[in-house]
Amino acid sequence: MNAIPTTTLHNGVVMPLLGLGVFQMTDADECTRVVTEALQMGYRLIDTAAGYGNEEAVGRAIRQSGVPRAEIFVTTKLWISDAGAGRTQAAFERSLQRLQLDYLDLYLIHQPYGDVYGAWRDMEALYQAGRIRAIGVSNFATDRVMDFLMHQQVAPMVNQIETHPFCQQIEAQRFLQEHRVQMQSWGPFAEGRNNLFQHEVLQDIARSHAKSVAQVVLRWLLQRGVVAIPKTGKRERLAENMAVRDFALTDAEMQTIAALDTQTSSFFDHRDPAVVMRLSQLVRAT
Ligand code: NAP
Repeated sequence: MNAIPTTTLHNGVVMPLLGLGVFQMTDADECTRVVTEALQMGYRLIDTAAGYGNEEAVGRAIRQSGVPRAEIFVTTKLWISDAGAGRTQAAFERSLQRLQLDYLDLYLIHQPYGDVYGAWRDMEALYQAGRIRAIGVSNFATDRVMDFLMHQQVAPMVNQIETHPFCQQIEAQRFLQEHRVQMQSWGPFAEGRNNLFQHEVLQDIARSHAKSVAQVVLRWLLQRGVVAIPKTGKRERLAENMAVRDFALTDAEMQTIAALDTQTSSFFDHRDPAVVMRLSQLVRAT
């Protein structure tokens, strides 16, 4: 099997370009089974969050997979209520404890709300102390990233944002590349919204490569240099989503997919005041 392609973050840390996301895997046994299978199948990047409530299940899978810890790139995220100087370090320790790990590969500020400045200073300290190999943000619009670049000591290594064929983030990627912040896609399939898996244009391209729509979308992200973390609870789809290294989309196919961009979220806009209020009121076990 070909090795999983990787990207190198601005601090030299190597990150796989393809991994598994575990959002909405709320059944602990199911989550442990899926992550264990994924690791045994060759996945080396697992994306969880304190807010997903499944860090323990992920930690159990990592231990029982038999894969050496150093080979796995583990990401978790800080929830809004834990953002703030002093609070963030404690939240980080709780996440590590639930994951039963002694260091993290990537720690992200999950949402651009609350005391993200205090949170970042705690994260910088943990990074400098060697407890985290890379630190980053999520759902940050480019102006928020620029603010961090201008006013924080350590520049974010990653920004994880909604990215799929209907919301391609072309301008954001250009900006992030210019500033050496790695872009990571969440929701690579838009969770199936807008009939993504039945989309005629994507189906035509898939047919011509004897691949699935899911594989075409992941291949499109890989060719753009965007890290993808598709979620699936099904063993056959874990294998399907990994089998994207034996074909390539042509420039013409990349252009055809580029035309599907609506430049709007399929979920919600993080800058909408109603969203800021709703997410900030979400109580999540941390
Ligand atoms: P997604 O990966 O776009 O879509 C997941 C959906 O696609 C599931 O319903 C899954 O169903 C289905 N699916 C997966 N592989 C498939 C295949 N080969 N063929 C057909 N259907 C397939 O959605 P997501 O979970 O929202 O995003 C991925 C990850 O990004 C999350 O798990 C999480 O780690 C991260 N994320 C982060 C944020 C953030 O704010 N930072 C927000 C959302 C997500 P089955 O499970 O039934 O296969």
